[in-house]
Amino acid sequence: MIKLADVRKSYGSGKNLFPVLKGIDMDVEQGELVSIMGSSGSGKSTLLNVLGLLDSYDSGKYLLGGTDMSNLNETTAAQYRSKYLGFVFQSFNLINFKSAVENVALPLYYQKVPRKERNAMAMDLLDKVGLTDWANHLPSEMSGGQKQRVAIARSLITKPRLILADEPTGALDEQTSHEVMDVLKEVNKEGITMIIVTHENEIAAMTQRVIRLRDGLIESTGR
Ligand code: ADP
Ligand code: MG
Repeated sequence: MIKLADVRKSYGSGKNLFPVLKGIDMDVEQGELVSIMGSSGSGKSTLLNVLGLLDSYDSGKYLLGGTDMSNLNETTAAQYRSKYLGFVFQSFNLINFKSAVENVALPLYYQKVPRKERNAMAMDLLDKVGLTDWANHLPSEMSGGQKQRVAIARSLITKPRLILADEPTGALDEQTSHEVMDVLKEVNKEGITMIIVTHENEIAAMTQRVIRLRDGLIESTGR
């Protein structure tokens, strides 16, 4: 599903050129539950943003579902993102003045799905993550774990093939982290490929394969 060959990316330019990805080779099969581990500053978020077409890379090759992702313009990248990809972030990225069900339904609003239909789909997903009773609550009324479950439901509403999660448990206590990982594992069991970035060994151990990143290079592929 994903294949990277010698992907490189630097920030800055000239004397201030700062290489972050220094030749990444990796692949992920459809249906895998993979973690990317590495210390802070090793390039995990940069790599995930490249994988998610949120950021460009300087050189190398990235195939997503067999299609070359080089030199996409922003419109095409946005189309791929909304069609194939779901995102989960450490800080949840929910809209504070919208209820849980409105947050989950929002991606479908942008796809011009009628309100009734998108709300029905959002309710189904809230049910799946165990938050039916919280549908009309605002994020400010929910715990961190609940907010992350709303964010996971939102990531699913466009029926993505791949979910990219950047430190999804980074803001949660240990027990809540486990609950959120259980939800992500359930989602993966339904066939959605999942890549989870983490710096916590315990979280990585809950995935099927651990890719280790060190200073912008893959240290081990976990195979
Ligand atoms: P991680 O997620 O593993 O902590 P990042 O991918 O966020 O690492 O960052 C890797 C390195 O790149 C860090 O040294 C960081 O300071 C630098 N970096 C990240 N984003 C930018 C940016 N937009 N501009 C300049 N440097 C950046
Ligand atoms: Mg990061």
